[in-house]
Amino acid sequence: MTWQSKKLYLVVFGSLLLAIGILWLLATQVTNSYRAEAKRHQLETENIGIAVEHELRTKLKEAQFIQEIAAGTLLPILSNGKQNEINTAKISEILNIYLARSPAISAIAITNSGNIISSASRENSTISNAFLPITSLKNSNQLLIDAETGSIYIYQQINNNQENPFILLTKISIHQLIENINILSNNQNSSIILFDKNLNVLYKTSRQINFSDNLDIIKYFLSSKQQSSSFTNNRKNQSSQLNLRKVTNIPLNIALFNENHERFTTWKNNTVVYILVCVLMLGLLLQILYSLIRAKRLNQALFLKESKLSASETRFRQMIEAMPIGLILARAQDKLIIYINKPAAQILDMPQASALSKRVFEIYADRDSFTSQISAISISSTSQSLECILIRNTGESFWANVSMSLVDVAETQTLLIGIADISAQKRLEAELKHQATTDHLSGLYNRAHFINSSNKEIQRIQRLKKNASLMMLDIDHFKRVNDNFGHDAGDLVIQIIALTCQEILRDIDLLGRLGGEEFAALLPETSVEEALKVAERLRATIENRQIKLKNGQIINITSSIGVTEVTHQDEMIDFALKRADLALYSSKNNGRNRVTNFDSSLE
Ligand code: GH3
Ligand code: MG
Ligand code: MG
Repeated sequence: MTWQSKKLYLVVFGSLLLAIGILWLLATQVTNSYRAEAKRHQLETENIGIAVEHELRTKLKEAQFIQEIAAGTLLPILSNGKQNEINTAKISEILNIYLARSPAISAIAITNSGNIISSASRENSTISNAFLPITSLKNSNQLLIDAETGSIYIYQQINNNQENPFILLTKISIHQLIENINILSNNQNSSIILFDKNLNVLYKTSRQINFSDNLDIIKYFLSSKQQSSSFTNNRKNQSSQLNLRKVTNIPLNIALFNENHERFTTWKNNTVVYILVCVLMLGLLLQILYSLIRAKRLNQALFLKESKLSASETRFRQMIEAMPIGLILARAQDKLIIYINKPAAQILDMPQASALSKRVFEIYADRDSFTSQISAISISSTSQSLECILIRNTGESFWANVSMSLVDVAETQTLLIGIADISAQKRLEAELKHQATTDHLSGLYNRAHFINSSNKEIQRIQRLKKNASLMMLDIDHFKRVNDNFGHDAGDLVIQIIALTCQEILRDIDLLGRLGGEEFAALLPETSVEEALKVAERLRATIENRQIKLKNGQIINITSSIGVTEVTHQDEMIDFALKRADLALYSSKNNGRNRVTNFDSSLE
């Protein structure tokens, strides 16, 4: 796959977008998490405030309820309306009973026209004269705050119809009320201040809280119509929530402070996780980008290299194509032909394309020639040339000079094979050889080749310790044939005698024309007795053969033959030839048309 630069830019652009997306996601998540944490904190504070207010009101209701029951109990005792007739002892007893009912009630008294008729109180608690009711109550449940002692006075008129009624007065300790509110003791981070509309502090939890710091907010809240309001106070290392509440139907206000000492722990943890995930994702993104850019660079380098290689390969092929000799390229590994030029295709008589499906050794007639060439180049790595027989596509075999070398084509080990068709040259060579060794008139070996071949045969015979015989033949009075019938007739006679010799002798016998009308034959593995018989048969055949000329004339000729055994002393044929010649001479001298075996007396 090749990366186009456009594609890469798109990927880089996409990655940047993704990175921005990830960062945006991080920012959003962190902000949301922060907001959620702040909201949670705010809601928690509000909930505590609501719970505190609720409990406060419940406790006051409870005190009022106790007071109503006390008033109900006291009514029959006080109903006659005459003070001197009142059973004060009984009243005091009842008051004490009701005082004990709730720990929040610090004192309880029956008053009449600003005077205390009877009272009961806890230690250190007295009913302030300032709060003694003088006239009858406008509302049945009147409630006043004593900022000085931190108390709430609840008034209950016992006998409504009288002009100068008895009023039951219960003093509630705010401190006691708050102490019994569980929700505050369960929230260690919460602090509370109770204050009246004049900002007099009625109660304050022991923890260090700063009322004056928030005075402006509190004043603003009191002047507003809101029943409750929440504020966030962010300081150096902690965030505090302030919930301000006006207690319904009671002239009391609550300021609830809720501190978060471990500032936004959850948020912090979430943020750390988000950042880690984002860093991880960005890291991965960077890694992917880096890999892509690296892959692109590698691809470019590869492409460049490939182009260079293919250019050099093309040049190489063009060069080979232009070569006048047959050239074949084959992969060294599997010997598959990958290229064949036109001259090679012509030599092998096959289309260039069809050669590509072949393996190079298939063109060799003998696989051993190919194997020997391959092993030779693997050793020396220089070009190896060999004359061997190849096969054309038609199945015809021919002599070729095949050179083979190992070259690097496009970084692949390749066999470069040059083919030259040398069949014509081989034919010429054979022709020349034939001409050099054969007598053109008789078709037999000429003198030189006969002597050469005989010498080799003698060496072989001696090596194998076999016997052999030599015969020498000369046509009798041949001069006369020439003289009487012409030179052509003489030539014909020579040819007929050569043919007769070939007929009588075996294929393994060496037969040559030594010159003129003189012939010699070396008979391997033939004893002299056998040779004499063959010679006699030959002589008789020649004698009996009638040679017919073109003009119809008949010539009868005879021949003289000398025979000798080829012995172990005969290192060369010349010695035996000499003896056979002597035997032949003897045949001539003894009347011709005969066979003579050599014996030493002839020397
Ligand atoms: P002899 O019985 O003693 O052998 O008598 P001859 O006549 O055969 O002997 P000679 O050696 O005197 O004669 C050989 C002749 O053969 C001489 C030569 O003209 C002739 N001659 C040699 N070579 C050729 C040849 O190639 N063709 C023809 N037609 N004649 C040849
Ligand atoms: Mg002769
Ligand atoms: Mg002669």
